[in-house]
Amino acid sequence: SMAEKSFKYVIIGGGVAAGYAAREFAKQGVKPGELAIISKEAVAPYERPALSKAYLFPEGTARLPGFHVCVGSGGERLLPEWYTEKGISLILSTEIVKADLASKTLISAAGETFKYQILIIATGSTVIQLMDFGVKGADAKNIFYLREIDDADKLVEAIKAKKGGKAVIVGGGYIGLELSAALRINNIDVSMVYPEPWCMPRLFTAGIAAFYEGYYANKGIGIIKGTVAVGFGTNENGEVTDVKLKDGRVLEADIVVVGVGGRPLTTLFKGQVEEEKGGIKTDSFFKTSIPDVYAVGDVATFPLKLFNEIRRVEHVDHARKSAEQAVKAIFASEQGTSIDEYDYLPYFYSRAFDLSWQFYGDNVGETVLFGDNSPTSPTHKFGTYWIKDGKVVGVFLESGTPEENKAIAKVARVQPPVDSLEQLATEGLAFASKI
Ligand code: FAD
Repeated sequence: SMAEKSFKYVIIGGGVAAGYAAREFAKQGVKPGELAIISKEAVAPYERPALSKAYLFPEGTARLPGFHVCVGSGGERLLPEWYTEKGISLILSTEIVKADLASKTLISAAGETFKYQILIIATGSTVIQLMDFGVKGADAKNIFYLREIDDADKLVEAIKAKKGGKAVIVGGGYIGLELSAALRINNIDVSMVYPEPWCMPRLFTAGIAAFYEGYYANKGIGIIKGTVAVGFGTNENGEVTDVKLKDGRVLEADIVVVGVGGRPLTTLFKGQVEEEKGGIKTDSFFKTSIPDVYAVGDVATFPLKLFNEIRRVEHVDHARKSAEQAVKAIFASEQGTSIDEYDYLPYFYSRAFDLSWQFYGDNVGETVLFGDNSPTSPTHKFGTYWIKDGKVVGVFLESGTPEENKAIAKVARVQPPVDSLEQLATEGLAFASKI
């Protein structure tokens, strides 16, 4: 039988949250041999957002080891050697296929057994696939999804092989918008297809989306809204050749990228731990319903104190901060002390072409658009406030300076009252700058 390995702390998953947790473990004085990170991926934790951005650019291309954590937040870059120096076991290319929380045992696909005293679940999300809906031809070659570095490498190969070709991007969310831009920059003829009336409908208002859709159109990207992909044509090599739309149109395609959403990877723990809102339910210290088991990052459904609600957040900033919170909580409880509850201000961002936006807070209530959201505006500087119960609860800003982004973050945190929406529209960014 295979050897059994035993650790005081085990993190399942080697993504963003795992990497930031490792740094916090080191800060807290973890001893050599105490911590293991078990990851399905073959590389040390890295800043996942790079995969849909500079990883795909023809110039200024990002490659590992350039973007290992924690460079995405201006921190130290943790190279594989760093883990060795700290005595942290990085167990890569190892998928856990069975987790038994009662006996504190994990089993890998290769049959290895891992025991732990304290477990941190950091398995992140997986992509929703068109095959899951039985879309015809969805298993054709050159239809790509993007979650891990292996996915990105396959896409990079296809971009090289299909120079000057055509791509169809299915989905108008983060992945759709970032991938359309990245492929366009690679001189590929790009069309986007999504069913909603405008892109990023979960966050963008019609006014925000109008800017991006116009900007993308000016870059030569075709945007087809109000319909979905219902099938794919293939050639004799099994490669995709076209995308059939529900409205009857057929789009030629050498490459298809699908970005239709994600799903938290909680299956290993089904029935063993309390779940809520699709994730693993935790308290403000990321403790789950099972003693000695924590969940962080995309999989955690946690109390969002600012909104007095429990939520799951699938963004990198929360992955980093929740990981740090959990590790601090673990050490505090070992020392019989306590730490403050997690008090998270939601922060999302994206970048494409020469655009860059940030959002803080909650996108609920009435909205006020400010600045010039014309797609041909020379500064691209515009934004939106969300107002609920007479208070500003969320702010979006495109092309903000670092100071302006700090100011909008403060507004979302402070939730200042507003007298009139007209005044807010007139003052625009100046309202944020004086908070
Ligand atoms: P992940 O970083 O996904 O890490 C999970 C890890 O667990 C992976 O390494 C996975 O292989 C491993 N794993 C899963 N199951 C097992 C198992 N059974 N055994 C072993 N290992 C396992 N957010 C933003 O805020 N801004 C952005 O611009 C942005 N861009 C993004 C671009 C892309 C292409 C993607 C995919 C995501 C992006 N995100 C962005 C979201 C952000 O990256 C995630 O919210 C964040 O990575 C979550 O961190 P995590 O540690 O919870 O999960």
